[in-house]
Formats: sequence, C-alpha cells, structure tokens
Amino acid sequence: MIPRTADSLLEEAGRCVACGLCLPHCPTYRKTGNEADSPRGRIALMQGGLERRIPMNERYHAHLDLCLGCRACEAVCPNNVAYGGLLAGVRGLAESSRRRGLWRRLARVALVDGLVTKPARLRLAGGLLRAWQASGLPALAQKSTGLAQWSLARIVLRLPRIKPQPVWKAVYPAQGTVRGEVGLFLGCVARVADSDTLRATIFVLNRLGYTVHVPPGQACCGALDASMGRPEKAAGFERENGEAFSGMDVVISTAAGCGATLKGYPQAFAGRVQDVSEFLSAAGGWSEVDIAPLAETVAVHESCLMRNVLRCQDKPYGLLHRIPALAAAPLAGNDQCCGAAGVYALTQPGMAAVLLADKIEAIKASAARIVATSNIGCALHLAAGLKEAGLDVEVVHTVTLLARQMGFDDDKNR
Ligand code: SF4
Ligand code: SF4
Repeated sequence: MIPRTADSLLEEAGRCVACGLCLPHCPTYRKTGNEADSPRGRIALMQGGLERRIPMNERYHAHLDLCLGCRACEAVCPNNVAYGGLLAGVRGLAESSRRRGLWRRLARVALVDGLVTKPARLRLAGGLLRAWQASGLPALAQKSTGLAQWSLARIVLRLPRIKPQPVWKAVYPAQGTVRGEVGLFLGCVARVADSDTLRATIFVLNRLGYTVHVPPGQACCGALDASMGRPEKAAGFERENGEAFSGMDVVISTAAGCGATLKGYPQAFAGRVQDVSEFLSAAGGWSEVDIAPLAETVAVHESCLMRNVLRCQDKPYGLLHRIPALAAAPLAGNDQCCGAAGVYALTQPGMAAVLLADKIEAIKASAARIVATSNIGCALHLAAGLKEAGLDVEVVHTVTLLARQMGFDDDKNR
C-alpha cells in the first residue's frame, strides 16, 4: 500500500538510519557518484521537501526523476525502509505543484490515459503500428535526424515486429488430467508487443492441466500512473482488477513489472498473485508433456522487480533447465537495472542509454544467441539496444522458449 499523507510518508522516511548500505546497490548512484542520486540522498530530499525545509523545485525533482524505481535499495535495506512506496507517495503529493510545459502535460495524459491504459485503443494502435511497420516508412524515418531527437520516435522505431493481435477468449480449458484453474493478467503493453508470451503461457498451462480464465473486465495494473504520481488513478485500476479477478484463487502475471504492482494491492488480492515462472515451478503435470531439446546457451536477464520485489529470480532457471541440452547462465550485472523501468527510457533517455550499454556489453561477453527475460519492458529495451548494436541475439520470455520446445508455434496457434 502506498502511504498517501505527508505524516505517513515522513514516518516511513524516518525509518532510514542513513547507514548507506544501499548506496553501492543503486544504479544511478553508481553512475553519477552524487549523494542526491542515491537512495539515502533521495530519502533526505523527500524528508526536506515534506517538512518544507527544501523547496520542491526543478532541481529537487531532477534527482527524484532520475530514480528508476528498481527498488534494489529496498531489497538490501537492513531496516526494511519501503522505498518504493515512499517514492510513489512523494511523487503523488508533489505532482500537483509541478510545473510542466503544456505539451509535456498533454503528451503524458494522451499517452497514458488516452492510449496505454485503454485496451481497445491500444489494440487499434497495435494494428496501425503493424501496418506502418509493413510499409517502407520506418526505413525512411530512420534516416530522419529530426525524428531521432524525439525519445518516443526513437522507441517506436526500435520496436520489434508487431504481430496480429489475438482476440482473447474468456476461458481456455485444460487438456488431459485437470489440475486446477487460474486467472491470467494480460497487462497493457504486453497485449500489443508480447502477445506471444501470453499465448505461450496459456499453451503451457493448458497442457499441464490448468484451465486459464482471461477476465474481460481486467484493467491496467496501475504501475504507470503510480510512477507518474497519480495514486488515485492507480487505485481505480486496483478496484477494477479486484472485481475482474474475484473468485479466482490464483492470478498469473507474465511481466514482472505488472506482477510487482499487483503484489502491492491489498493482501486479499496480492496473496493470490504469482509470476508465471513461480507458478510453473511448483505446477504438476510435467511428466505428461514432451519437451524437445535445444542445444543453446541462454543468458538470463533477471528483471529488477523480479529480484527486488517478487524475489523469484531463481525460478526461470529451473524452467529453462527442463529443456534438454539447454544451458542457462545468469547475465553478468544482473544486480543492475537495464534502464527500461516503465516510461524511464522516454523520460530519462540519457541514463537509460548508459545502463543499456552495460547490458549490451554483458550480452556480447556471454556469447549467447538467446537472452531470456521475464518482463516485457526489459525485453523491448534490450532488443532495441541489440538491434542498434547490430547483434543477432533473440530476446524472449522464458515461458515462450519453453512453450516452443513443447510444440507451441507462434503463428499456428494464433
Ligand atoms: S540501507 Fe536503508 S536505512 Fe540504510 S541508508 Fe539505505 S534506506 Fe536508509
Ligand atoms: S529505486 Fe533504484 S535507482 Fe531508485 S534509489 Fe533505489 S536503487 Fe537507486
């Protein structure tokens, strides 16, 4: 739960004893060496701002905006300071007083309220993007130096091929011995850019004997609104999802970013949320399915929210090891965020690029031809960096790779 009042935020911030143990784990502090870009420094800024000792001006916000929200600091804090909640709460309180240009305000609202959190519009946008990708226009746009100045244009140009959008059924029945029922959380971006992973998840669950429900009334998890300092909007999505998934004992998430947000809902909901790798690791039915061998070394990118919030980063390795002949190894530097972090690559392109460069170097050094991840945001960011570096490395969700070896065909099963 996100603390909403200045008093509750100050109480949480006051639990920080300024020991500094979190500093070496903070990616932005590692890069800038500036205390104000460290967790301890940011907490001190939050306290100063909330107590009105420090003006919440643009300089103040620049240090908080540079925070990735990766929560690496939270995972190592001996006093269990809830940094993620603090950041979201302070951003929420400060948002109304922030001075943003009209175009920036309009762009934020249009992108998040008007598109990303609206499944029908997102579907339409996915179709348009697909048609655009099929035309010769992206090649022309790549050459335009003017367009390359825009973070959003750069991101759109680097998107992977968008596939046709599936029409989701409400229920996908189990096959063979029936073992249980689960609900599947679709997410916003994943529906458009990673429908393969969602369909692969249904494929694997069905073959292991689990019926999958896809409630049509489900909404965005609220992560984007929380990161933009709009806790009321995020709470609205929380209510919608509570209703959509009522009566379901398990809610499966395929993207660690969404899963971490769902885990922040009230316990009655959060207690039912599981990352797909976590659920499949404990699932039955494996002796009844055939998995074809794959003689590849796969580098595993552990998303920061999977490590620092869901804390199930070991699970994808177990699933990958179910594939005969496959060797799965952690990507060097897994303790550092890749820089995707929701809309961070859009709002902080400089730091996002610096962090991405570290990952690209690590992937090169691994010599792997496949990188497995568990978060669509990381996957898109890494794939874009690899494309730009001219490297022929596939970035794929762990479950999609597993499903392929079980007979899942990206195009035939659509
Ligand atoms: S580790 Fe925790 S208590 Fe220590 S400085 Fe960081 S946030 Fe504060
Ligand atoms: S959330 Fe990540 S970037 Fe932000 S202060 Fe903590 S470790 Fe640093």
